[in-house]
Amino acid sequence: MNIKTKCKKPIIIAGPCAAESKAQIALSLREAKKRAIDFVRISLWKPRTKPGFEGLGFRGIDLLIEAARLGLSPATEVILPEQARAVMDAVLGEVPETRLMLWIGARNQNHYIQREIARVAASDKRVLLMVKNQPWSNEDHWEGIVGHVLSGGIDKARVILCHRGFIPNGVNPFGYKNVPDYEMAMRIKHTSGLPMIFDPSHTGGTVDKVLQIMDEAMKHEFDGIIVEVHPDPTHALTDAKQQLTWKEFDQLRV
Ligand code: PEP
Ligand code: MN
Repeated sequence: MNIKTKCKKPIIIAGPCAAESKAQIALSLREAKKRAIDFVRISLWKPRTKPGFEGLGFRGIDLLIEAARLGLSPATEVILPEQARAVMDAVLGEVPETRLMLWIGARNQNHYIQREIARVAASDKRVLLMVKNQPWSNEDHWEGIVGHVLSGGIDKARVILCHRGFIPNGVNPFGYKNVPDYEMAMRIKHTSGLPMIFDPSHTGGTVDKVLQIMDEAMKHEFDGIIVEVHPDPTHALTDAKQQLTWKEFDQLRV
């Protein structure tokens, strides 16, 4: 892969939308290990639009430990502060030299929970916290999320933001799943002073659009990307249409 973002050292996060099984994660780790990836996505909790597979939850924590043992820094969404605490205790307890990324997803819009997750993440320097924008387009709200997270006392050096687009509401010429607002993302990046990465998977929504959206997105000053990559995308339990194979991931370039 030859990602040429406008920043010197882009943050690259890749891996399946959701952890599904030991075998699926073993295959993902084997492929991740061959590539220059900063964090491997192994998400344990899945917010769902409609009822369905909600992730392995606490049962999957061993998979994050497995990644860390291989020298791959794991990343997972957490929906509640107690999930953040459990993942941190287990992963950092077993593999003290690892880094760990937790993130707050787009659907998690309760300021109390945002602040408390940040408070838990703040308690250990090995933890980075990624924060996604909310689903609807509103700059004030996005700024507010950043404020709530920082009010949890986490060092700004350990917080990164992520643009995953907004639910379509009007103009959407390419039929993206979520419509990016690059200008707004850049304003939030500059006013917050925090890195802003881009999520082509949840904006694009299908493999062809993920590849297409990368071309336009990387013209902006994003500090990295988070991409969904699955060993067998067509059988993925979540977001099957948008997950890349590792071969497709290798073709990402701008
Ligand atoms: C995800 O990253 O898998 C996810 C659910 O994304 P979002 O929070 O952006 O909807
Ligand atoms: Mn997903």
